[in-house]
This record gives sequence, structure tokens and C-alpha cells, in this order.
Amino acid sequence: MTTPIIYFDNAATTPLDESAAVAMNLFFRTGYGNPNSPHALGKEARRAVETAKEETAALIGADPGKIRFAPSGTIANRMVLNAFPIRHIAVSPIEHKSVLSEIPPSGVMKILGAKRYLDGSDLEARILVRGKPELVSVMTVNNETGIINDVKSIAAAARSSGAMFHTDATAAAGAIPIDVNEIGCDFLTFSAHKLYGPKGIAAVYDRNGLLSDLPYMGTENVPAIVGFGEACRTARETLAAKRSEYSFDADNDYDEIASAFLSGVSSEYCDGVSYLRLDESMHLKKIINVVCEDVDAETLVLLCSERGLMVSAGAACESNEKKPSHVLTAVGLDENLARSAIRISFSRFTAEDEAYRGGAILGSCARLLRETPDFA
Ligand code: PMP
Repeated sequence: MTTPIIYFDNAATTPLDESAAVAMNLFFRTGYGNPNSPHALGKEARRAVETAKEETAALIGADPGKIRFAPSGTIANRMVLNAFPIRHIAVSPIEHKSVLSEIPPSGVMKILGAKRYLDGSDLEARILVRGKPELVSVMTVNNETGIINDVKSIAAAARSSGAMFHTDATAAAGAIPIDVNEIGCDFLTFSAHKLYGPKGIAAVYDRNGLLSDLPYMGTENVPAIVGFGEACRTARETLAAKRSEYSFDADNDYDEIASAFLSGVSSEYCDGVSYLRLDESMHLKKIINVVCEDVDAETLVLLCSERGLMVSAGAACESNEKKPSHVLTAVGLDENLARSAIRISFSRFTAEDEAYRGGAILGSCARLLRETPDFA
């Protein structure tokens, strides 16, 4: 008998939305024309790309003419950060690696990290010490902790100091309402596979058309773009059904799921297991972190996996690194505790009983590893 899978690693990637899969399939099989061809099949593909662009733009309240597709969220971020010769960039220490790796060590202005969310005052404080940046890049939601930054006030602080503002909304798009005009950002990036769309496709919002225009972009990945558009449409409808107003407040939908998971952990009573408490008001509990003291998180992830629970020891793209997560240490977690932290990320398909069962698996695996330090 195969072990049923409980997938709580949705911050690494989400399963593909059924309607996105159906829409994509059509363009793999019958709508295979090249969108640059003038004939009917080409025109059909071009129309599909344009419709998907409209859906992608609508999710973030943008004009479709300001959206560009990119082959991944990583490349989307790099497109923004390398768009012009900027000498002074301000980034937060909790940014994704694709942003941090683009920042030259000299001239980097880091906003102070803390267990709370970041807002305009963090940027203003740094400007007083380090001077004015030309570009500020702060993510909307952090992909390791679920903390929601107040990017609207950060964008305002950036603007009043004369800087442009970019936000990496990869962990936020589809999870909380986003409106580029409300935020007041110059650039916003997000990736399809974090919102139930396909892998290998992302979008950049470019308010002022500053990203260089290549004369010929090549043949677009039509099925991926179509799947992205469809996932954005579903996400927009799901969000609209829940609330009508744009807001930065944490989405409480996952409170009960997170509590069920934590009760599951404690049902397998195990010492030294705690939940990383962050600023409650701005924490999207779709992502939580559980710290299992004296247990190596990588080992725990593998043991949980053997028992059907998929979780992660930090961000998937950094899981080959031996260093503890730069995000968890930036929010104030001691290095040893950061090495024992497990990220659990739920999806819109997660049910409370599944969360409880997943928690119980994690609790029992953590207890086994604590009671048997030589277990491997
Ligand atoms: N930014 C954030 C916040 C992310 O979580 C990720 C994916 N881990 C990326 C950017 C990069 O996206 P992609 O996987 O599409 O390259």
C-alpha cells in the first residue's frame, strides 16, 4: 500500500489548478499555432496570449500594456534589478535569493529585520543613516515566514526620497488582494507556480515602460502563458468572493488550519517543539514555522517524507545550502534554532483534518529524532 501524501510545501510550489490544466492542454494539442504567424491558428494563439495578459494584469489591478512575461520569478526579479545602472539600492534582508544575489555588496542599504513586518519607517530610518537610494526592493509577503510587509507605506517613503519601488509579490499574489496603483509601485513581479499555475512563467509589471524592449522576443510559451492567465483568473475570483476591498490585513482563512496543524503536533507530545510567533496582525498563516530544538531540520524533512508528509527546511531554492536560512536569522532566530526550523505551507485545498494529521506526523517524527539522536 502506498502512503497517502500530505503536501504542505505550497510555498515551494503549488499543484496546478484543474482549469489551468484544461486550458493549457488545448494549446498543447489543438491550438499549437505560433502566435507570431499571420494565419488563423497563429492568430488564435496570439489572442490567447493577449487574454492571458489581461487576466494576469487584472489580478494586480494593472493595465495589461504594462505587463511583460518572463520565464521565471527569478528572472523577473533580475530583469528589474538589472534594468539600469543603479548605484544605490535598498533591499530588506529577508528578500528572496533572486533579489539579494543581484545586489552588489557595496552600496547595499539593508532595512533592519525584525520579527515584525516592515513599513515605511524602516526605510526612512535607513535613509537617515545611509542616504537616499535610487531603487528600493521589498517583498510583499515573505515566502519563509508568511509575514506581510506594508509595501504601500514603503512605496510612499521610497517615492518621497525620489527612489523607484519594486516589490516581489511572488508569495503574495493570489493570497492577498494586490493593486499596483494602491501600492504605488513602479515594478511588481510574481510567478505562476506559486498560485496554482504552471512552472516556468512569471510576470513583471513595469509602470513606466522602463525595462528595455527587445526588438523580437521569440516565440512565447503559449500553453504556460494561458495556464498562468487561467490561474490568475481563478485566484482573482476566489479573492473577490472573500472580500471586496483591497487590504493588507492578514488573511485569517488559515488560522484554523494552522491551529489544527499545531494541535496535531502537540497530540504527539514532544518536548522542545515550538511555533515561531510573528507579528500576528500581519502574518499570513498559510505559512508557519515550527522549531524542533536539537533536531536537524533536513533529517526531519526526510523522515516526514517517508511517512507521507512533504514539508521543507526553508526555501526550496536554498535547500542545498548548509547555512541556516538568512530570513529566519534576519528575523532574530538564533542560528541553531534556524537549523531546526521546518516551514509548513498550506494550500487552498488543505482541510483541517488533513492539517491535524500532518501535524501529528511531524510531532511523532520530531519525537523519534529527539529520543534517538543517532537515528538516521
Ligand atoms: N520570489 C519569491 C518570494 C519566491 O518564493 C520565489 C520562488 N521560490 C521566487 C521569487 C522565484 O520564483 P521562480 O521559482 O519562478 O524562479
